[in-house]
Amino acid sequence: MELQHSDEQTPARKRLIIASNNAGKIREFKELLSPYGFDVISMLEAGFNEEIVEDGDTFEENAHIKARAVFEATGVPTIADDSGLEIDFLNGDPGVYSARYAGEGATDKDRCDKVLREMHGVARELRDARFVCVIHFIYAEDDEYSVRGEINGYIGDKPHGRNGFGYDPIFMVNEDESMADLGEEEKNKISHRAEAFKKLSDILKEKFS
Ligand code: IMP
Repeated sequence: MELQHSDEQTPARKRLIIASNNAGKIREFKELLSPYGFDVISMLEAGFNEEIVEDGDTFEENAHIKARAVFEATGVPTIADDSGLEIDFLNGDPGVYSARYAGEGATDKDRCDKVLREMHGVARELRDARFVCVIHFIYAEDDEYSVRGEINGYIGDKPHGRNGFGYDPIFMVNEDESMADLGEEEKNKISHRAEAFKKLSDILKEKFS
């Protein structure tokens, strides 16, 4: 009798695109996804080099726009994320504009300084803020998922700490420490990204284990 070639016996590794060319992000997703038999590649590796206009009003919309653009062009399962800082006193700003908050060519320090200027003199109880990370996963045309992770904190009155990136030095996670005071390992346990990863991981486990 001839042996049947079954997918279950010899599972083919499936390609999955991360809708980003950020090496750090791709490395993190590779690690998360490797137990599920995915070969993770960047948009560029997939031959996608069009510019995606992220003109959504929410993190959910932007993550969806990015994942959809790449999925439609390639037909390959795609993951995209969008993240940023929301400050209650600024009605949720910088929000989806977090990366471009101080204009083109500005640095992380410029963006932190801008926030500190806008929050100057604002009382502690009005300084609440959160980092948000939304991940959108399109597995097939009618099979897609969106997950959100958040971490709450408040905006300090001056930069604090030497680690991390972006708005970490002005985001206080407790009275004494900003996100930039935490070591990488510690941050990766509690961050908005970690929470979104955990939720995505639960979906992947349920779907592919
Ligand atoms: P994007 O999701 O790669 O578009 O990032 C949006 C922007 O949000 C970044 O450029 C940072 O300014 C900010 N941001 C996102 N995550 C973090 C974080 O973990 N720490 C500090 N800033 C962050």
